[in-house]
Amino acid sequence: MSLTATSPKVIETLPHADICPVCGAVVFTSIYNNAQDPITLDSFRVVKCSSCGAAYTMPRPVSLDRYYPSRYRAYGAFVTRVLSTLYGLHVSHWARLKPEGTSVLEVGCGPGLMLAAFRRRGWRVFGIERNEVAGETARQILGSDTIATSLEDLPADARFDLIVLFQVLEHIGEPITLLRKCANRLAPGGILVANVPNFASWQSQFAGSKWMHLDVPRHLVHYTPESMRHTLKCAGLTLSTLSFTSFEHDPYGWVESTISRATGRTNTLTRFLMGLDKFSAHVLFSCILGIVLLLPALLLAFVSWVARRGALMEAIAVDSRAAEKQV
Ligand SMILES: [Zn+2]
Repeated sequence: MSLTATSPKVIETLPHADICPVCGAVVFTSIYNNAQDPITLDSFRVVKCSSCGAAYTMPRPVSLDRYYPSRYRAYGAFVTRVLSTLYGLHVSHWARLKPEGTSVLEVGCGPGLMLAAFRRRGWRVFGIERNEVAGETARQILGSDTIATSLEDLPADARFDLIVLFQVLEHIGEPITLLRKCANRLAPGGILVANVPNFASWQSQFAGSKWMHLDVPRHLVHYTPESMRHTLKCAGLTLSTLSFTSFEHDPYGWVESTISRATGRTNTLTRFLMGLDKFSAHVLFSCILGIVLLLPALLLAFVSWVARRGALMEAIAVDSRAAEKQV
């Protein structure tokens, strides 16, 4: 069944659905009044907190089940293989950041592709995954005692040299709470890696509400370098470096966002790759356009990385108390 036919519905919202997820303020200005969920076609607003400057999705639905279909991020064998290779590059980069490290926790580990790559390098791996299907796949690959459903399920004294949140934080409605819990789980000298879409990127500004990585309402907070630094600080973490290189999501984001802007249809290629839509003339046209756009997209992505305006950003943070001791 195609989800294209799903009718937009009245969205049931939380009692305080319009408060800032970062600072709790209730005063905001509107950025987009009609940002469309590419899966259900429901409409949302993206607003900016007048107090702390964080951008967030409004309203926030009571239940997000409707917005995470079983095919969400469930790609075919070819795409999974490509992503695994690219994820392996991330893992070798992170492993070099903490060469003496032995233990890693990935929050939102999915089916465990990155943790498997860490284990191949000799790390002790642990993962948190709330999705039952993905968590079960990870347990089958990595062992039943390595994957938990929440941080509270881990042994109280468990600490980690490296904690990774790869494209997870933007999905979290209470990011400070989660980051504080992560900060408390860092071993002495440990580092936290948080990779999120960059709302201040050239790609975001070019595509507006059609930006592929806006992805409302799954993305509840839309981080900029400034709001990321502030959010980490509120959670007791100090941002040490921010980088913008993302081979797997940035060039593709330029291609998909440009097609969406040009055709008015949202995320045609991604919907097809996820199995939400069957092959059609629209998909064929988007594929042809995508091939034409591939080289300019690669060039744009590369220049945006150098200019620190890439579509994805990766924050490396340390416990603020440890950072103060070093000063
Ligand atoms: Zn705020």
